[in-house]
Amino acid sequence: MRESKARKIQRAAEIVKQLKKSYPNAKCSLNYSSPHELLIATILSAQCTDHRVNQVTKTIFRKYQSQKEFAYADINELAKEIYSCGYHNQKAKSIQGSSLEIVEEYNGIVPDNMEDLVKLPGVGRKTANCVLSEIYGIPSMVIDTHMVRIMNLLGFTHSKDAKKIEIEIMEIFDKNDWIKLTHMIIDHGRAVCIARRPQCSMCSISNYCPSVTS
Ligand code: SF4
Repeated sequence: MRESKARKIQRAAEIVKQLKKSYPNAKCSLNYSSPHELLIATILSAQCTDHRVNQVTKTIFRKYQSQKEFAYADINELAKEIYSCGYHNQKAKSIQGSSLEIVEEYNGIVPDNMEDLVKLPGVGRKTANCVLSEIYGIPSMVIDTHMVRIMNLLGFTHSKDAKKIEIEIMEIFDKNDWIKLTHMIIDHGRAVCIARRPQCSMCSISNYCPSVTS
């Protein structure tokens, strides 16, 4: 039987309540000390673990100490320095290009709206939502691989398309929970609802999950 929207909203609220108990300290695990550093770390995090990104940014944030140093960096040299994050040539271009635009077009201020953020080279909705939520506290959800997988398992979407999922679940989860939800789901995906081997018997939200297995 098809679940009504009202019932989904109710179930989503229960899930958030349980997740808050399970992951009270859930937060962004990328290290940064400025909006621009978060933007760079988020660009690097595509198809890469946060742990690896933090190792790489530790070195590059020491070497390039300002937006201008990233904006006028030698792309080949930067690509070598971020090699271990994968897609190094593309990511180097995105980091240098977006830094240059922020310096030259935005007076050094990382934009605080989706429209301008996604115009920056190499910045998609995921990176933009991360900046909007982490830096500016604007309710938004980062739809990463854990969010895609778990929102499907929870039956809140039947899509793999991040933008579609974002729009669908915005209708279901309370706006005040959006930022925290992403971090809690990421923690849950790493610890319990692990890809290909979900630990349903240890799951605090199993009572609200249609994909639970015994
Ligand atoms: S019950 Fe199983 S499938 Fe559902 S969220 Fe928990 S671990 Fe994942």
